[in-house]
Amino acid sequence: MIRVFESKCINRRLRKCMITDKGAACEICGITEGLDLHHVDGAGPHLTENPNNYPGNLQVLCHKCHIRLHCGVIQKHQDIITRRKAGEKLQSIADFYGISRQRVFQILQKNKNQSCKTSRG
Ligand SMILES: [Zn+2]
Ligand SMILES: [Zn+2]
Repeated sequence: MIRVFESKCINRRLRKCMITDKGAACEICGITEGLDLHHVDGAGPHLTENPNNYPGNLQVLCHKCHIRLHCGVIQKHQDIITRRKAGEKLQSIADFYGISRQRVFQILQKNKNQSCKTSRG
């Protein structure tokens, strides 16, 4: 199950407080509109189920990054970047993820430019 919308269940006031407190910008792409709160520990969606609504466990994300994060896309891209930085060959990374070398290259390029900001829709 992908829990994309858990932040909707967070008490409105807390949500506003948190977003204001943390700088009112997506922590991934820096966008300032349509912000959500994400539970880093991924635990239950409701305040009563997830007592862990502390600043350290909450991340301000825009809706798009939030969805992407839950879909694992960002994590995968981060892993690819990490592997590349560690000196792994493009082909070897491509084989690992079952994607083309060209695709790995694109991901590396794209993430340099924080494309999340521009590719809305
Ligand atoms: Zn974002
Ligand atoms: Zn979330």
